[in-house]
Amino acid sequence: MESPSSLKVGDKVTGRVDWERRHTLMKMHTAGHLLSSLFYSRANCRITGNQIDVDRSRMDFNLESFDRTQIEGYVTEANELITKDAPVKTYFLERGEALKLPDMVKLAEAAPPAEAQLRIVEIEGIDRQADGGLHVSHLKEIGQIQLLKLENKGKTNRRLYYDTQNPVK
Ligand SMILES: [Zn+2]
Repeated sequence: MESPSSLKVGDKVTGRVDWERRHTLMKMHTAGHLLSSLFYSRANCRITGNQIDVDRSRMDFNLESFDRTQIEGYVTEANELITKDAPVKTYFLERGEALKLPDMVKLAEAAPPAEAQLRIVEIEGIDRQADGGLHVSHLKEIGQIQLLKLENKGKTNRRLYYDTQNPVK
């Protein structure tokens, strides 16, 4: 058997998606959009950092005061929206048209790429963002969001760790 380093440009390869891992990351990612939309719409927060991972994900945001009850309330609200369910759609918009929408960019320090068209991920009736990532097709797929831990890393970095799980059957 040849070693992988013998691969050359133009070689045929076969790839296989690790679906369990992929699906977990999709749920974590959509959950992050849902949470960020609540932080944004309820408290005018921008997202200052995030990391999507399989075991737990984290999100940093610039909430004015570090108020655990307030943050827990947004997670509860997110879970209520998941229970109600909503479709998650992706589509393309002309860049100029997309950037006219006030809620399009929720990352504090990230501008959308300089493309003529931007890919939009919309949680119908709840959130839309310019985004290139993979998402579940319905909120219900997330299961529920579990708040694992809150940390106060300073005014621009209130940090929330979360996980997703399927509802208990
Ligand atoms: Zn995203």
